[in-house]
Amino acid sequence: MVRWGFRMFESDLDLDLAAEFDKALGKEEADQVPLFKLTDKKPDPELAAEVREKLNQGIGVRLIDHYRQAELGAFKTLARYQQVLLAAMLMRAGARIPDADLQYVRGLVTNVPCRKAFDIHELGFCAAGKAQFLAALDGYAEGVPRDFREASCFHCGKTKADTGSAPMMCGRCKNANYCNKDCQKAHWRSGHKLMCDMKVLSAMLKTKTKA
Ligand SMILES: [Zn+2]
Ligand SMILES: [Zn+2]
Repeated sequence: MVRWGFRMFESDLDLDLAAEFDKALGKEEADQVPLFKLTDKKPDPELAAEVREKLNQGIGVRLIDHYRQAELGAFKTLARYQQVLLAAMLMRAGARIPDADLQYVRGLVTNVPCRKAFDIHELGFCAAGKAQFLAALDGYAEGVPRDFREASCFHCGKTKADTGSAPMMCGRCKNANYCNKDCQKAHWRSGHKLMCDMKVLSAMLKTKTKA
C-alpha cells in the first residue's frame, strides 16, 4: 500500500476502493459504465459524458444506496469512506447526486478519519484531501465534471475551477499548493511546517548522496 500524495485518489488504497465500484456493478454493467477509468489523469471527456448518462439513468443512485446499506454492517468506517469516494467519482463524471445524498455525505466527512501527515496504511483522508472533497461538494453542479487530479489548495481545497487561477506552490518543498498567502499561512500553522522541513531535508540528503 503506497500513498504518493495528500489528496484524494493519491494512494493505492483509494484506487483499490474506487475499483470496487465496478465490481459492485457486476461485469456486464461495469463494461458499459467504466467508472474506474475516470480516475485517469486525463479522462476522455466523451467517456465522462457517456458514464454520466448511464449513472443518471439510475445506476448512480443504486450505488449510493448500496454503500449506504453497507454502513449498517460491521465495517462502518470503510462504508463511510466508500460513500465519500463514490460521491467524488460521481462528481468526477458530473453525474446527478440528489440533494439529500449530498447533505448526507457532507455529514459523513466528520466521521471519516483524517490525518495531517502521511500514514500509508490507514483508511480515510489526509487533511488536503478532506479540504479538496469539501470544496468539490461546495462547487458541485450537475453536468459539470469535477477534476480531482488538478492542483487544489492544501488548506481550503479550492482549484482553478473555483478561484479562476491555478494555485501556487510552496516555494520551499515544492509539494503543497495554495490559492493565496492567507491559505499558505494558515496551513503552515496547522502543521505544514513539519512536512515541509521533512521534504526539504530528504531533498538535501538525496543531493548529498549523488555528490
Ligand atoms: Zn486556499
Ligand atoms: Zn512546503
